[in-house]
Amino acid sequence: MTFTTHTIDREKLKRLADVAVKVGLNLQPGQELVMTAPVEALPLVREITEAAYEAGASLVTPLLSDDEVTLARYRSGTSDGFDTAPGWLYEGMAQAFEKGAARLAIKGDDPALLAGRNPDHVGRAAKAMSAASRPALNHIANFRINWNIVSWPGLAWARQVFPHLAPEAAQAALADAIFKASRVDQGGAVEAWRAHNATLAERAAWLNGNRFDALHYTGPGTDLTIGLADGHAWVGGETEARNGVICTPNIPTEEVFTTPHAERADGYVRATKPLSYQGTLIEEIEVRFEGGRITEARAASGENVFRTLLDNDEGARRLGEVALVPHRSPISDTGLLFYNTLFDENAASHIALGQCYAECFEDKTLSKEEVAQRGGNSSIIHVDWMIGSAEIDIDGITADGTRVPVMRSGGWAQG
Ligand code: ZN
Ligand code: ZN
Repeated sequence: MTFTTHTIDREKLKRLADVAVKVGLNLQPGQELVMTAPVEALPLVREITEAAYEAGASLVTPLLSDDEVTLARYRSGTSDGFDTAPGWLYEGMAQAFEKGAARLAIKGDDPALLAGRNPDHVGRAAKAMSAASRPALNHIANFRINWNIVSWPGLAWARQVFPHLAPEAAQAALADAIFKASRVDQGGAVEAWRAHNATLAERAAWLNGNRFDALHYTGPGTDLTIGLADGHAWVGGETEARNGVICTPNIPTEEVFTTPHAERADGYVRATKPLSYQGTLIEEIEVRFEGGRITEARAASGENVFRTLLDNDEGARRLGEVALVPHRSPISDTGLLFYNTLFDENAASHIALGQCYAECFEDKTLSKEEVAQRGGNSSIIHVDWMIGSAEIDIDGITADGTRVPVMRSGGWAQG
C-alpha cells in the first residue's frame, strides 16, 4: 500500500485534528484517549495524537484496521470462523471508558468493501461484532463519555465519490470536500466551530421555546405532518456527556433534531436525495404514512432493498428522528453525494426510520418504557434519509393549532 498523502493539505489536516480534540472531544487534561482508525488514516492519527498530548492526554491508544486484512478473512477464512468477534477487545475498551477514557473514531473505509462477498459470512460477522461490541458501544450510545467521529479521505471511498477522477485526484478532491464540510478549510477553525455550535444551540432553543406539537412539510411530492413525541427536546451541536464533558460527537454536524411521535405521521413524502444503504443506492423514494406507519413505499431503484429495510421489524416502518438542516451549508454547498451518512444527512433536512434517541427528551433520565409511552419509536435499525431541499417549506404547529413558519425554501424562516 502507498500513502498518497502529499495530495492532502498538511495544515488543514492539523486543523481537523485540532477541532477533533478541542471541540469534538473537548479532551480533558489527564484523560486517556482510545482511537480507532483505518491504517490508511495514519497521517491523521498522528496529528490527533500530537494534539491530544498537547491538550494534556495521559495516554493515547490507537487501534488500526485495514481493508485488505478484512478482505483476507472473506477470501481465505473458514466458514466456521465468522461467528467469532474480539469480545475481549471491547471488554477492554469498556473498562477504559469506565476509568474515564474518551473515544475517537476516524472513518474513511471503503463503503462498498464487502459488496459481492458471501452474504451469509457478512451477516454472521456483523451479528457477532455487534454482540461483542455492546459493552463498549453502550458507553457511547448512552453518552457516558465524551466521544467524537471525524473522517479521513480514504482512497476507495474517494474513488466512489469521484469515479471520473484519477485515484490521487479523487483523494485530493475528497480531502478538500471533507475539510470544507468540517469547517477547517480556513484558519480560526476552533473559534468557527464554537460560533457554529452556538448557532445550533440557538436554533434548538427557539424550537424548544415554541413547543411545537407537529411539523408540516410541503413541496413537490410532499405533504406530510409529523407529530412530535410528548416532552420531546430539540438538540444539536454540543452535548454534555454524563461524565460532565461538553463534546461535539459528529464533525461535521449541521442538524438540529428531535424525537417524533411513532404513531403520528400522516401524508406523503418524496426523498430529495438518493439513500446509500449497505452498498445499494436507493433512488427517488416515495412513501405514504398513516398513523405513523408507512403504508405505501416506492423507489425508482433499489426498491427491494428499501422494502427489506422496512420489514426489519415493526419500528422500521415508523419514524425515530426528525432533523432540520438548512439547504445551504458547507456540506450541501459541495453538491456531492458522499455515500456516507455522517456527511449526507447533514446536507439536508431528514427523517430517520427506526430507533429514536432517548436524549431528545426534556427529561434525560427516562426508562425505555417511559420513552415508548411518550411516543419514542424502537427498532433494530436507524436509517436517515433526506427530504429537504430549496423547494420545501416547513411550518410548526402548536397544540392550539397556531402555525409558525420554521423553514421557507429550505432555509430557516426566522433570520
Ligand atoms: Zn440526523
Ligand atoms: Zn439519524
